[in-house]
Amino acid sequence: IIKDLLDLEKLAVLGHGNGGTVYKVYHKSNRCFYALKVLRLNENSIGIRQHATLEAEILKRIDSPYIVKCHAVFDNGICSESGKGGDISFVMEYMEGGSLHDVLRQHHRLPEEVIAGLAKRVLEGLNYLHGMHIVHRDIKPSNLLVNKKGEVKIADFGVSHVVEGGFEGINSNEGTCAYMSPERVDPERWDGENADEFAGDVWSMGVVMLECLFGHFPLIGPGQRPDWATLMCAICFGDKLEMPEKASPDFQHFVRRCLEKTWRNRATVLELLHHPFVSRNSCCFSKGLGDYVLRG
Ligand code: ATP
Ligand code: MG
Repeated sequence: IIKDLLDLEKLAVLGHGNGGTVYKVYHKSNRCFYALKVLRLNENSIGIRQHATLEAEILKRIDSPYIVKCHAVFDNGICSESGKGGDISFVMEYMEGGSLHDVLRQHHRLPEEVIAGLAKRVLEGLNYLHGMHIVHRDIKPSNLLVNKKGEVKIADFGVSHVVEGGFEGINSNEGTCAYMSPERVDPERWDGENADEFAGDVWSMGVVMLECLFGHFPLIGPGQRPDWATLMCAICFGDKLEMPEKASPDFQHFVRRCLEKTWRNRATVLELLHHPFVSRNSCCFSKGLGDYVLRG
C-alpha cells in the first residue's frame, strides 16, 4: 500500500504526454518500482479535479491482467497562495518495456503472429472494461504498455478522460484524433446512445493493429502531414484500405471488420475474440513482445 507521495523516490522521466509527465519511481519500504503520472491542472480545472476524483474510485476497482494497474491516486489540492490547481498523481504499475509506440519506433513492424497475440490481449482488456460499462476512448500505441515478460496491457483509462476536458483545441488532441472512429470525428454519423460507444475502441484497435503491420500510421501515407483535415478525410472518406500483399486473408478480414466505417456494422469485441486471426494464432505467441522490449 502506498500511503504518501513522499515515499516515492523519482528516478527518471519515462515520457511526457498530454498535460503530464510520467516518472519511474521507487518505493523504499515496498522495494518496488512504479510509474508515477503527474497531471498539472490549471486554475480552470476544478471540474476536472472533481471528475478525476470520481475516476479514481473507478480506477481502483479495475483489476485485470490486461489493464495496467493503478495503485493509488493523490490529489495535491489547490494551492492556496496562487489559487491555482495543483497536481493529480497516479501511481501505476511500472511497465519496463515502455509503450508499443516505442517498440514500433525501434522495430518498425511486427510479424503477424506477434500482432495476433497483442490483439488478443487488447481484446481481453476491452472485454473487461466494456463489461464494466467503461469505454476507453484513447486506444493508441502509446497507451499500450509492455512489461518485461513481453505482456501488453492497456493503460490510461480514466487518466485520458481527465485530460480530455482540460485542454482546448485540436492540437492537444492531435495524436489522439488519429485513432478516432468516423462517428467520433464526425458526430453527424452518430445515432446511438452513450452505451454504444464501445465500437469506437474497436476501430482504434484496428488502426493500431494495422500500424503494427505497416510500421507507420496506416490511414495516411508516410509523407503526408497528419493535420486535422487530412486525418478527418482519411478516417471518414478514405475507402480503399491498401493491405500489403503479404498480409494473410485472416489478418485482412480482421482489420476490415474493425475498420468498418458504419459503427453499427463494425465487429464487436466478442466477435473479434473468436476471429480466426486471433484464435488460430493464439498458441504460437506465448513469447508475446518479449523479443521486442527495449528498456530493462
Ligand atoms: P496521452 O497523454 O495522450 O496519454 P501519451 O500516452 O504519450 O499521451 P503519457 O500517458 O503521459 O503520454 O505517457 C508518456 C510515456 O510514458 C508513454 O509513452 C510511455 O512510454 C511512458 N509510460 C506511461 N505509463 C507508463 C507505465 N505505467 N510504465 C512505464 N512507462 C510508462
Ligand atoms: Mg498515455
